[in-house]
Amino acid sequence: MSTAVDIGLTRQALASSTLSHGLGILGDRWTVQVLMGTFLGLKRFEQWQQQLGLPRSTLAERLRSLGALGLLQPRPYQTRPLRHAYHPTAKTLALYPQVLMIWAWEKRWGQSDVGLPQALQHRRCGHRLTPTLACQACGEDADITRMGLRLEPVPALLKVKPRLGRAPRIPVGSTPHVSLGLRVDRWSLLIVTAVVLGCHHFDQLSHVLGIGPSVLARRLEGMVESGLLRCDADRHDGRRRLYRLTPASRDLLGYIVCLSSWAGQHHFKQPSAIVPIHACGHEFKPRVVCSHCREPLLAHEVTPLYGQAAAQALEPGDRSALAEVATA
Ligand SMILES: [Zn+2]
Ligand SMILES: [Zn+2]
Repeated sequence: MSTAVDIGLTRQALASSTLSHGLGILGDRWTVQVLMGTFLGLKRFEQWQQQLGLPRSTLAERLRSLGALGLLQPRPYQTRPLRHAYHPTAKTLALYPQVLMIWAWEKRWGQSDVGLPQALQHRRCGHRLTPTLACQACGEDADITRMGLRLEPVPALLKVKPRLGRAPRIPVGSTPHVSLGLRVDRWSLLIVTAVVLGCHHFDQLSHVLGIGPSVLARRLEGMVESGLLRCDADRHDGRRRLYRLTPASRDLLGYIVCLSSWAGQHHFKQPSAIVPIHACGHEFKPRVVCSHCREPLLAHEVTPLYGQAAAQALEPGDRSALAEVATA
């Protein structure tokens, strides 16, 4: 199967994908965490600092770059001394589906959920919800096995090199505050995508991602250790290894698709070089819906719940169960 991969085309598609370019602007861990904080109502410098425990200069730099991207708008809330609150913009709110996919993933597979809401309640229907990725065209839940891919490199993005520097590794558990974001870094997401595109061998991955052997070997080892990849011996050639997705990495689909879609539509204004095609025959455009009422989720209609409130929120089906108890 893997022999059928067009390595040259895959390399070009990955390099010009809205995913790798999107990860270049948003994939850095602190940036993601500052953004996640926005959706939990953080607006002031001190609030982020307290919640994330990051150095002042790093936070100031991230707030500046998010401002330059049009994702946070500083507005003074105090004049003497002058202090700003940072408000989300329409472009930020369009990232909500992606943020929901991060929460959903972290809840299922993350190692720590400190700082994340323990449950989400949909104000529209009153139920506790699981953010669910669905196809905009047919409404069916997304399933990676019911999705094909078409590769169409985007010339405008091929000319620019995505800003994928060395992602700093923040050891898990180094501070109790760092779990507002995704444990998975941008290179892991690109490696997962390359495997989805049919690259299962070391040399294929190294070529399509343009990563040197020693760095790639380290990354693959880390991903196998953390359960994001499975490494098997190739049945046809015992010296070669095959890298495959695991349930945890397959579940990153929502995050990957939502980020690519946001980056293409709201930032680069370019189509995606990796076009997912749903089994219904339409291009797969993500819609994140409430698992209970199936309505698209909007930030102002979802309440993050913590502690007691999360324990008390109704799970889908609880209401009818309660009604049955009442009438019994
Ligand atoms: Zn569909
Ligand atoms: Zn609902």
